[in-house]
Amino acid sequence: MKKLLLPFLFFSLKLSAQNVQQIHQKAILIDTHNDVLSNQLITKFDLAKRQTEGNFDLVRAKEGGLKAQIFSIWCGEKYGKGTAFAMANREIDSLYALIKRNPDKIALARNSAELQNIVKQKKLAALIGVEGGHMIEDRMDYIDSLAKRGMRYLTLTWNNSTSWATSARDEVTKKDSLPHLGLSDYGKQIVRHLNGLGVMVDVSHVGERTFYDVLATTTKPVIASHSCAYSIDPNRRNLKDEQLKALAKNGGVVCVNFYSGFVDSAYSAKVQSFVKQHKAELDSLVKIYHDVDLATIRLNTIHKTESEQLRPPLSMLIHHIDYIVKLIGVDHVGIGSDFDGSESFPQEMNSVADYPKITEELLKLHYSEKDIDKILGGNVMRVLKANAGK
Ligand SMILES: [Zn+2]
Repeated sequence: MKKLLLPFLFFSLKLSAQNVQQIHQKAILIDTHNDVLSNQLITKFDLAKRQTEGNFDLVRAKEGGLKAQIFSIWCGEKYGKGTAFAMANREIDSLYALIKRNPDKIALARNSAELQNIVKQKKLAALIGVEGGHMIEDRMDYIDSLAKRGMRYLTLTWNNSTSWATSARDEVTKKDSLPHLGLSDYGKQIVRHLNGLGVMVDVSHVGERTFYDVLATTTKPVIASHSCAYSIDPNRRNLKDEQLKALAKNGGVVCVNFYSGFVDSAYSAKVQSFVKQHKAELDSLVKIYHDVDLATIRLNTIHKTESEQLRPPLSMLIHHIDYIVKLIGVDHVGIGSDFDGSESFPQEMNSVADYPKITEELLKLHYSEKDIDKILGGNVMRVLKANAGK
């Protein structure tokens, strides 16, 4: 009997809270997708101070062992020619201002060497990802300008297609009425241009046809900055097994999204009945916030116990990571939370302070420290470096 108990005791000892923290804090954790900047233009939260709402601030980021954040620069599809690029720059300005106000806490990283240097100085490395090809307004010189300001990935489409790339939403819902499908010739030029600049091509949000056109065009590994496994949750924003395999062949990385709707296939039905019940209240919140997502986040806060039931368990999120690792290997998975970009995340995942729970769960599944390092950021670092090289 004693003999049987020993491995168990050894394992529990290994998983002490201190041990989890040690392994977690040592890793260079890179989150590839956070939407706090576009929200901050509305909320005006001071991100250097601990906030009680939202998922991100510099205090909680430190607690969660976050070493590098790729901030999403995003605006909706109502922005187009003449407004979208300006909006992108406005959000980049607000990141620059945050950095200027807090030089001891956060600094801009334009490459992997700068990222590592900033981590050594115990500051958060801030990187820029532009989410939505519409923000370049069909202009190559706008890509150059954004790259100069620090853009390290461009998500080719958001939910809306561009004139040169079709999105996941449009490929599914407008298939027969689309003027073109996948990447146009100009879209291919854009991919090559990004390759040349060392800006990662982000395939989250793009349609399947665009996805495969990108892989046939790019000379560098791609990133899916915030997507999950379609086999577990068949949502058009998630990647099918064949796509995941193709992405691995390209040497790329898929960074798992924490949004409950992409993690749990039962989530949207549960939410629909919740919203139906509180419709009048939600309508009045939309009038205050002028934004359905922010209004829904507020509604969730008001009905905390009820909304808590809608959230999938943390184990479901971990299942996506584990599933992808088993399908395509541990070298192609990362973390792309989508914090501050969604109204719901799995239970226990409330903010950037909660990343250590992922390390804890992976240790429970007997992942080695080396593999955990890769998932938390090592793989993204590899892709970042590969894109910068000629
Ligand atoms: Zn997104």
